[in-house]
Amino acid sequence: MTVADKQQRYDVIVIGSGIGGLTTAAILAKFCRKKVLVLEQHFTAGGFTHSFGRKGKFHWDVGLHYVGEMGKGQMGRAIFDYLSNGKLQWQKMPDLMEKFVYPDFTFDVYSDPKQYQADLTAKFPHEQKAIQRYFKDVQSAATWFIIHSFIELFPIWLQSIVKAGVQKFGEIARQTTQQYLDQHFQDPQLKAVLASQWGDYGLPPSQSSFGVHSNIVTHFFEGGWHPVGGGQAIAQTIIPTIESMGGQVITQRRVTEIIIENDIAVGVTVQHTAHLATDLEIYYAPVIISDAGAFNTYLKLIPPSYPLPHRESIQQFPKGSGVVTVYLGLKEDPQQLSFQGENHWIYTTYNHEEIDQPDAIASVQSPKFAYLSFPSLKNPSAKGHTAEIIGSIDYSLFSQWQMQRWRKRDADYGTLKSGVAESLINLVERYYPGFQDLIEYVELSTPLTVEHFDGSDRGTIYGIPCTPARLDLPWIASKTPIKNLYLTGTDAFSPGIMGAMMGGVKTAGIVDGAFGFLKIMTTVMMR
Ligand SMILES: Cc1cc2nc3c(=O)[nH]c(=O)nc-3n(C[C@H](O)[C@H](O)[C@H](O)COP(=O)(O)OP(=O)(O)OC[C@H]3O[C@@H](n4cnc5c(N)ncnc54)[C@H](O)[C@@H]3O)c2cc1C
Repeated sequence: MTVADKQQRYDVIVIGSGIGGLTTAAILAKFCRKKVLVLEQHFTAGGFTHSFGRKGKFHWDVGLHYVGEMGKGQMGRAIFDYLSNGKLQWQKMPDLMEKFVYPDFTFDVYSDPKQYQADLTAKFPHEQKAIQRYFKDVQSAATWFIIHSFIELFPIWLQSIVKAGVQKFGEIARQTTQQYLDQHFQDPQLKAVLASQWGDYGLPPSQSSFGVHSNIVTHFFEGGWHPVGGGQAIAQTIIPTIESMGGQVITQRRVTEIIIENDIAVGVTVQHTAHLATDLEIYYAPVIISDAGAFNTYLKLIPPSYPLPHRESIQQFPKGSGVVTVYLGLKEDPQQLSFQGENHWIYTTYNHEEIDQPDAIASVQSPKFAYLSFPSLKNPSAKGHTAEIIGSIDYSLFSQWQMQRWRKRDADYGTLKSGVAESLINLVERYYPGFQDLIEYVELSTPLTVEHFDGSDRGTIYGIPCTPARLDLPWIASKTPIKNLYLTGTDAFSPGIMGAMMGGVKTAGIVDGAFGFLKIMTTVMMR
């Protein structure tokens, strides 16, 4: 195979078109007037925000069920308005946004932190004081988490002063969620309820940092929103901003290597994913930004011969967990079973640590958790009714088929998938009788599907897992040890659409130079 030189002049190359990559690319185009090339390995842009359809009427979002802070005037909304030139519209979810479904009761969460606190107090009056304190602590820990994650924006001399100033809140945020809950609460059911959203950051309470837990919990305090037109509307409305400065988003292009010369990133080698036998392409630019995640960027895209600091730490850091998703096309409106578009977190146990069952057979036959949502009820332009059920599952269950191609895997893989889908549907049916009768179409994605389409290591969905140890990793940052190479997205900040987008803003700010982030945010918020 030969190498074809693509000497087109770009100011910036972005690897991957997830929300982190698109955010950085669009800000560098619009605010810094840069010509940006985004290279995406999938045949569609958007990363986890992309949608797909079947039968012409069923459409699902892959990695977007709800996003917080999208009300008029809120920061998330202001950034999306800036990126999309006001083209991206948001639909608010019902006021009753989440249902935490447990064996003995269902706890409803409304889009108002005061009501959330009052409802918790009404259900668990004996824990009133601890609940009151919890609502203060999540605010403090979330604020600390955000300041800590932005620390690299400050000049070095200021960093230690800022760190010392917020140290007190850091002590809470650096605990595991379980440590915090055990320290302040007695009631095991209440502890379970408070940890119910751990699927939003992918780690059960014993492993997650209370900082990331707090960041996500407070993110959804005012409710959840969904893009009108589904997740795909995000890429569709942001790409024109990149193109307006002569930039491009090219799909079916997998970056195979970041070219480093004299310790400076200067370009990328690229493979056409639909024509594997064709020449590799090379693109050059003075700035290279990766949205492919820290693990992929450092261990797969930087040549192994490069003397990378922290290589061993990255190799040895624990891996994130995977999920299965059952995509359902419905023949009838789920509103007839009283679903209104809220999320349902269904737990058969109060012990969240039991969810990831080491016994592979048990995890397939009797799942202890299912997350249920209805994309079509959240999207006013949906053609057909749809539902999604997400289950937690270990990658190892599917790893034997990893080397086989998508849609060409053994029959055993298909049989296992059918079993997993059936068990998750049965679990939902147990809590919502009649659900099964709504179903017209079933399809299941596994961690292998995620690995294939998103390129994430072992199909993990939230990047480097948000344990307390992650908070101090020098390689979880926008800046890298290599000149002119930057990270964006989840691993530059935190998981979730908002987390990856803020990672994107931070990276654009750093590339812009001193006070870049401040200038960008002032422009965005003053619009
Ligand atoms: C099932 C599921 C449900 C979720 N639900 C929600 C939710 O309700 N709300 C929420 O806020 N968040 C949710 N998330 C998380 C959220 O989608 C992600 O945190 C966020 O979208 C990540 O954005 P990113 O830009 O960091 O990375 P990604 O979206 O992963 O984008 C990375 C991109 O890089 C591309 N890429 C990788 N390697 C290469 C390469 N070598 N060359 C070229 N391209 C490459 C990938 O194909 C991909 O497009 C969910 C995720 C999943 C999977």
